[in-house]
Amino acid sequence: MQGKTIVLDPGHGGKDVGSTGGNGTYEKDVTLRTALNVRNKLVQQGANVVMTRDADTTISLGARTAVAQTENADLFISIHFDAFQTSDVYGMTMFYNKPQDEGIAQKIHDQIFKSDMNTKDRGVRFGDYHVIRENTKPAVLLELGYISNKNEEARMQTDAFQEQISTAIASGVENSLR
Ligand SMILES: [Zn+2]
Repeated sequence: MQGKTIVLDPGHGGKDVGSTGGNGTYEKDVTLRTALNVRNKLVQQGANVVMTRDADTTISLGARTAVAQTENADLFISIHFDAFQTSDVYGMTMFYNKPQDEGIAQKIHDQIFKSDMNTKDRGVRFGDYHVIRENTKPAVLLELGYISNKNEEARMQTDAFQEQISTAIASGVENSLR
């Protein structure tokens, strides 16, 4: 991973809390915690990591994609947790926007589900999200569980989950850049 620059984008932040769980969890807090853990793993692997935010700050979507450009990123990863109107829906989905980025999303997906994630595999899908659509660098957006599902809301905040998901993402990133 020497010489590779990864931009990590914790979804939401500041005034934009993202989705809110049944127990009051804000998506913006879990995305930041997860991204910081992924950063640690990637740095251990020798990568240069840049965060679009590393605190609870409000950042526009345009400013997020601009970081990928100015840093000449090899990969941009936006981290999110999903929500749905009903609490029974759960699982993880990996999104790409450009056809050439599908393989990256697939490699990260494969590492995540190789590690017995104990959640529903919602697959690798096309997503029309600003931060991956308007990005001039390779970009994916990861939805790492449903904050609207009670079990996933609790689980995403455990050290065990954080360790497992950050390790899997970092391995997937390494595979995709190899
Ligand atoms: Zn989100």
